[in-house]
Amino acid sequence: MKRTIRDLKNIKDKRVLLRCDFNVPLDKYGDILDDTRIFESLPTIKYLNEQNCKLILCSHLGRPKGYDKYLSLFPVAVYLMKRFPNKVKFCPKASGKEVSSAVKNLKGGEILLLENLRFDAREEQNDETFVKELASLADIYVDDAFGVAHRKHASNYGVALKLPNAIGFLIEKELNVFSKAFENPSRPFVAIFGGAKVKDKLTLINNVIGKADTILIGGGMAYTFLLAKGVNIGKSIVDLDLVDDAKDILEKAQKNGTKILLPIDHVALDGEKVRKVLLMDQDMVGLDIGKDTIKLFKKEIKTAGQILWNGPVGKYEDKRFRKGTFEIAKAIAKSKAYSIVGGGDSVGAINTLGFNKKINHLSTGGGASMKLMEGKVLPAIEVIDTL
Ligand code: ADP
Ligand code: MG
Repeated sequence: MKRTIRDLKNIKDKRVLLRCDFNVPLDKYGDILDDTRIFESLPTIKYLNEQNCKLILCSHLGRPKGYDKYLSLFPVAVYLMKRFPNKVKFCPKASGKEVSSAVKNLKGGEILLLENLRFDAREEQNDETFVKELASLADIYVDDAFGVAHRKHASNYGVALKLPNAIGFLIEKELNVFSKAFENPSRPFVAIFGGAKVKDKLTLINNVIGKADTILIGGGMAYTFLLAKGVNIGKSIVDLDLVDDAKDILEKAQKNGTKILLPIDHVALDGEKVRKVLLMDQDMVGLDIGKDTIKLFKKEIKTAGQILWNGPVGKYEDKRFRKGTFEIAKAIAKSKAYSIVGGGDSVGAINTLGFNKKINHLSTGGGASMKLMEGKVLPAIEVIDTL
């Protein structure tokens, strides 16, 4: 068990460095387009603030190369000011004298947000000088930035090695959800996978075999499996190098008692024309699951005890190929099963469709949740002390 902020004692007036994931989409006026990530960080911020710590918040935003006024965290400071009136200060730098003097002036119960860590290239390099600088600001380090927990950066991996540390409520929740989902699932456990490439999902599917009762495969990756079974896939996206791996997966699943269902019909592009087909011709490109597949998958979703979904089952960005993903999302939202959705595109699809309130756990980290689902240990969490 990792130490959490609940386990930290006597932190009143202590300097606490809290790494958040405030990587939210902004428009060019600095308006926050989706505040999910900040909102999910509030319980940890609130808890530490109520303990009267001197709270120093830091985060990255986007992928700047040096300073970029469009990727400033100032809009996040404004957001926090509204939630914690008269308590929030903003430091327009992430490193250097301005930061250390702002921290020196910080009082118990105040919150200081530093500027975007990635304006300093040393952040992503896990540079020792930056690690030391960050560590010198605080007595205790808390990590609640789930979205970057699979990365070894100065502000999460590096600094955790230098200070007494703990995880925040958001990371705690993500860890609990995924460990329960795999170790003690409500059955039947139905996993749904989609997305473009099999390569990205091999480890994930392998980890789920033997744990899930049923795996539904749609999206571009289904075509590698269909080819492995000798089905004509026309010109659909395929990982030819991985056809043998796909065969192995199908065999392994059979041995382990996990049922794998593949698409039985398709919405395909035939030149310029969109066609609904049971079998594909040589020139067709499969871009969504067809209505019979939707029916087949929905039946499994309806009777599931737990659902794990990663990856759209079609090229959902294109309206013509959205129905499959939409119907799957709707069925998950309707189902009584405990539902978990992980992956940037899948969570995006749920949000766009407005089903976010109907999902039990929408993971806040794309890459990080993928790694957890693959059964991997996240480096930035590994370095946090255990109890
Ligand atoms: P997530 O971000 O949820 O993990 P992925 O990134 O793995 O999902 O997959 C999403 C991408 O897969 C989307 O861009 C979507 O267009 C693409 N995709 C899904 N089905 C197909 C298909 N049949 N052909 C080509 N691309 C597809
Ligand atoms: Mg994606």
